[in-house]
Amino acid sequence: MAFHILPSNRKVMQWISYRSLDNSHSVISGRRNNYRTKNAHDVVSCLFSTKAPIESDNETIQEEEIATSDETSTNNARTRKHQKKNKHQNNTTITYPPPPDSSTFPSWSYTPRPFFEFEILHQSTKSSARVGRIHTPHGTIDTPGYVAVATNAALKGVDIRDADTVGQQLIFCNTYHLLLQPGTEVVEGAGGLHKFMNRKNGPLITDSGGFQVFSLAYGSVHEELSTGGELKKRGGDKKGSLHVTGGKGGKPPVKVTEEGAIFRSYRDGKSFLLTPESTVQAQKSFGADIIIPLDELPPYHIDRNVLINSVERTHRWEARSLKEHLKDVKEQAMYCVIHGGLDRELRKKSVDYLTSLPFDGYAIGGSLGKNSKELLELLEWMMPMLNEEKDGVDRRNKPRHLLGIADEPSILGAVTRGIDTLDSCYPTRLSRHGTLLSREGKIHIKSGKYSRQYGIPIDPECACSTCQQYDRSYMWHLFKAKEPVFMTLATIHNLQYMNDLMAQQRQLILENKI
Ligand SMILES: [Zn+2]
Repeated sequence: MAFHILPSNRKVMQWISYRSLDNSHSVISGRRNNYRTKNAHDVVSCLFSTKAPIESDNETIQEEEIATSDETSTNNARTRKHQKKNKHQNNTTITYPPPPDSSTFPSWSYTPRPFFEFEILHQSTKSSARVGRIHTPHGTIDTPGYVAVATNAALKGVDIRDADTVGQQLIFCNTYHLLLQPGTEVVEGAGGLHKFMNRKNGPLITDSGGFQVFSLAYGSVHEELSTGGELKKRGGDKKGSLHVTGGKGGKPPVKVTEEGAIFRSYRDGKSFLLTPESTVQAQKSFGADIIIPLDELPPYHIDRNVLINSVERTHRWEARSLKEHLKDVKEQAMYCVIHGGLDRELRKKSVDYLTSLPFDGYAIGGSLGKNSKELLELLEWMMPMLNEEKDGVDRRNKPRHLLGIADEPSILGAVTRGIDTLDSCYPTRLSRHGTLLSREGKIHIKSGKYSRQYGIPIDPECACSTCQQYDRSYMWHLFKAKEPVFMTLATIHNLQYMNDLMAQQRQLILENKI
């Protein structure tokens, strides 16, 4: 196998491209294995069984330019050796070692980080809601807090200075998009994301890239439902394996192996191998205050056996991510991502395992239901698990982040169930479509009824610069005329509204009203 190390910056991600894969790489051939469960006991037992399925029969990828990391290859040599050994012993089964337990992590990793602290200022007497502060190297985050999404290290239509003005404390950037453009080398060359986007005094969080990669494969829950279950077919087969299909020309855009996920860039068609190690290396280059391990995001519609295997793989990936992170912490905090879909037993297993490891916070991920009602039902029975103390770990003492959902009904319900931060492109996406948030309810500004509302701001109680300068009539005109500045003005307002909403929530918690 001929490896060609990209000469420009080996340190960044140690990406290696190569033209062919031999049998020593992550591509594994053999027959599928599966779990069959008869009852709940079997389900729980097989969750932590060492047996796991392989992805497909005779998987081979040839003559593709694939980016991977030599670190990854080293880290997974043991796993492959284990797989080969088992394959030799039983030609029909490939097994994976169970995720490493807490004793395999260094004792120092369980001590508090001097650069990252979460303090709970008040616990509501009426609900699980709490008011707190997360202290990071780049500033403080008041909780419960809304997290704005700046996919490409930029908020859509809004300058980062405007984000500061509206009180936006934590901003979420997407590793997947930044990997493809501008790439880790450019960001690291600038001195990291904070310097690159000139966010000197505000904390950042980056994800692993896994969410976007698996969304390519499975689509969103909304897409699954809107296709009448068509995508359900991708949710795995009865043998317990995930099928990953789709993509142009019938070629799968994503292929999942134990090593990681191989995907094609939508920009230039190049293939990348995203592994637990490579995403951590990328996030080290970006330098965000909070980083996320690689996880597998299964589709909403999924066979339970497939979900069991997916959770198990996610645990192995998150443990590998954490070990990579601990090699050089760099004043970054890493949150785990709790999985298990809507399955109580799997969620409990995920909570028990991941909270036993030295993560700095708990993110709630995986399938969260098809609507706000299902989400809140899930949180209703899951969040009490994070109020428990087990094996010397008081889970209440770490921040909880809800990934990717922050519409208003979900926010209000999640806060009272103990969520500390939430990220969503909800307010920025709404503004692009002419929907403005207000204390009177949503304003669909395209409506002709706003055309003559002179002197009335979007929200009379809002202190944002848009509401101070412009009225509904002018905003109606800008939207109808498709003026680009509308998006800027609308987004500034919607971000202000979200931060005001969270400040109001914090006050209500302090008064034990919610
Ligand atoms: Zn406003």
